[in-house]
Order: sequence, then structure tokens, then C-alpha cells
Amino acid sequence: MIERTLGHICKMLGGEISDPSSSDVIIRGVSIDSRTIQNGNLYIPIVGEKFDGRIFIEECEKAGAPCFLIDKNFKVPKSVTIPYCIVDDTKKALQDLAKAYRNELDITIIALTGSNGKTTTKNLIHAVLSEKYRVEKTHGNLNNEIGVPRTILSFSDDTEIGVVEMGTDDFGEISLLTNIARPDIAAITNIGDAHLLKLKTREGIAKAKFEIIEGLKEDGLFIYNGDDEILKKVFPNYKLSQKVLTFGQNDDVDFKVKSLSLTNTYTRFIYKDEEYTVPLLGAHQVYNAALAVLIGKIFKLSYKDINNGLLKASNTGNRNELIQRNGFDILNDAYKSNPQSLREGLNLAGILDGYMNKIAVLGDMLELGEDEEKLHYESGLEIDPKKIDYVLFYGPLSKQMHKASLKNFSKNRSLHFENKDDLIDKLKQIITKSSLVFVKGSRGLHMEEIIEAIYNFR
Ligand code: ATP
Ligand code: MG
Repeated sequence: MIERTLGHICKMLGGEISDPSSSDVIIRGVSIDSRTIQNGNLYIPIVGEKFDGRIFIEECEKAGAPCFLIDKNFKVPKSVTIPYCIVDDTKKALQDLAKAYRNELDITIIALTGSNGKTTTKNLIHAVLSEKYRVEKTHGNLNNEIGVPRTILSFSDDTEIGVVEMGTDDFGEISLLTNIARPDIAAITNIGDAHLLKLKTREGIAKAKFEIIEGLKEDGLFIYNGDDEILKKVFPNYKLSQKVLTFGQNDDVDFKVKSLSLTNTYTRFIYKDEEYTVPLLGAHQVYNAALAVLIGKIFKLSYKDINNGLLKASNTGNRNELIQRNGFDILNDAYKSNPQSLREGLNLAGILDGYMNKIAVLGDMLELGEDEEKLHYESGLEIDPKKIDYVLFYGPLSKQMHKASLKNFSKNRSLHFENKDDLIDKLKQIITKSSLVFVKGSRGLHMEEIIEAIYNFR
């Protein structure tokens, strides 16, 4: 994490120090949250729509913050005794500090964006590169205008490589983030229908993701999924001076892998004659892991190191997670949903072996924009009765999925529910000793509540 004096930080920000005799105060890390602030952290109070971090300054002082940033319009209470640095705007200062700090670091930054798989791929790249280097990464899903600066400020002077996830649901966001992170390598995982609400079309989504190249270093490298139709289509619009590589499973990509086997515990693929195994489930993991292998090779890791790194990867909450319960299994994919990740999830549920009946419990896919009903309908048509025995839907939009699924499913095998309790009652009736229950929906649907309700069932 950042370790600098208050004087140095204030200078980086062009701010004014409240008490110049305090310029030697040492800061270790930054915090924007009074509840989790650690001794030595610089407190950066953010003023949001729902909260005003400035009212917690005294609390942070008590918790061990040696100093804080404050905007020039705020009158600091007399009871506060620690020094501070006055800036125009604290959120902007957080971003400016990350940008200035990044320039002081001797580090290689890998930035990732895309519609699906960013967090998974980030973790895989981190796992692989950690075999040889001191690597830091985005914690959890801190991928926005606050999370990316916090991520960079969590890197240390001796960090060799930083892996940074960048998320967006509007134009201009990735541009801001990439100009802070100034990546040496920038990669796009894929383009789906997530965030159509503001970005309107899949080309719009691609345009927003391509903003990542705006901050890419002159001598940097751009990598994208060469099997992704939209990425392939829009790439020629960008005249990049940097080196470019594609990855995928088709013949025309630079880094070609081939899927070998997908089981209940791992996914296996080959690159040339090298066989790689990743302990994550689903055909899409071949893409996520292929990017990690490619990056491992760019950093000159051996086959053994790369494969060992992949083997250490673990699942992150509610994503393609197979959980064994009393006599039945749950495939927990409740983290998020959109047409592409739902397709992958349904395929995975279809492939998993050893079940007598497979039940899909599907919630709405949010933020799909004006075509949301049509997209739900189309996803409903894709649910294959050869792979899934029952489908239970929850949420107003999923009525469209239900309607479409009735083309392939009988009425007693495809049901829509207005409330979760009714759905859970039905689910308990149809779960047998060898059921697989696949649960997926957008974050806002809180489909994990359904998992909790059946967790100790039977
Ligand atoms: P967010 O936008 O919320 O940050 P993300 O892009 O980081 O999401 P992950 O958290 O890695 O994505 O994965 C979320 C879900 O997307 C997984 O549960 C899985 O269902 C699906 N997914 C992961 N990788 C892929 C992929 N390469 N293609 C399609 N779907 C994927
Ligand atoms: Mg993520």
C-alpha cells in the first residue's frame, strides 16, 4: 500500500496542508470508510448521493487516522486535532492521488475489461503470475471510479505487477480509469448484452470497453478475445500503434487453445501440446484461463509455473460454484446474469454429470435496456429440455423467459412465481436425492436467498 508523508501527498495533489509542521507525518494506505479504517491510513471522505463521509472525521481520528483530505468548502470542526490537506474535491483527489502514485511506481499494470469474466480472469492472471512475481490485484470487485484508484493505492513500492479490473455501465468511465492506471497491457474479455441500458447497442458496449486503449502505454500491448464477433467487427475502427494479440479457439487467433474436457471439478484445455487444468467449471473458463496462460507466457513463465498457478485458482463467491448438500447439489451462479453468462451457466448445468433431475431457478436479467423483454424471451427459447428437467422463474421480466420456454417445456415443468416463498415451496417438492439445482439471476434479484432457503433441506 502507499507509504508516503502527508507533505508529499499534499504536493502530489497540489493541495494545501493545514499545519506545515505536520508534513513529515507518515501515511500507510488510504481509506474511504470510517468503519474499516486502519491505524496509519489517510482518511479520504467521499461525499456521495446517500452519504457524506465528512461527518466521520472525528471517528477516523479515534480509529488511528493520522490525517485526512478535505474539500475547501468544508469547515473542519474545532474538536479535530489531526492535520489535513485541503483539496478542491476529495473524490477527484482520490483519483489524482492514484494517478500520481502510479507514476512513481516501478510496476507493470495489466488492465482488464469486458462484459463477463473480468473478476475470474483477474484472479487467474494473479494466480499464474504470483508463481514468479510479487503481484497485487483488485480486491473483490472494486472496479469503478472509486475502486480502481483504491486498488492502485493498495499497491506497494515493491509490487512488480498489478492486475486491475475495470467495470463500466456508461461511456467515459473506462477512459477515466485507464488514464489513471496507464496500463502496460490492456485486455478485453468479451462483449455481451450487460449494461445495454445506457450503452444501447452491443457496438456501444464495445466502444465503451475500447476506451481502455486510451490510457495504454505507447509501447504497451492490447489483447482481445478473437472469437468474439463484436470485438472482431469493431477492432478495425481503432488504429492502434501498440502491439496487438488475439486469443480464442478459432484458427485465425494469435493464441489458439482448444477445449479438452469439462467435468464436475475442473476444465481442461490445450495450447499446442501443453495441457492446462483449471479448477473452475464451465466452457467459458477456457477463455478466462487462456488469457491467463497467454499473459503467463508474455512474462516468460514456464508451462509448469503457469499450470501450477491455474491449479491454485479458487472460486469467487456465487460464481459457477458447485456445492454438495444432503443428497442434492447446488450450482450457485447467483452473482449476476445476462444472456451470455446465462447461456454459459445453462450449458454447464447441462454438462455436469451424475444427476437424475436438473432444475434451473432463473431470475430476471437487469439493465438490458429497451429490448429487455425480447432478450428475456430469446433466452427462454434457448433453455433445452434435453439438458434441464424443470425451470422455475422469478421476477417480472422472467415472465418472458417463461413464456418462451413453454414452447419446449410442458406447463408442469416450467413455472413462473411472483414471490420467492412460493418458488421455494415448489422447489422443495421437486428436489430429489440426485437433483442438481442451478440458480442464477441478476444481483438485484438476490437469488442467493433461494439457495439459503434450501441449503439445509432434506
Ligand atoms: P462484474 O461486471 O460484475 O464485475 P465480471 O465481468 O467480473 O462481472 P465474473 O465475476 O468473473 O465477471 O463472472 C460473473 C459471471 O459471469 C460468472 O458467474 C459466470 O456465470 C459468467 N462468466 C464468467 N466468465 C465468463 C465468460 N468468459 N463468458 C461468459 N460468461 C462468463
Ligand atoms: Mg467483476
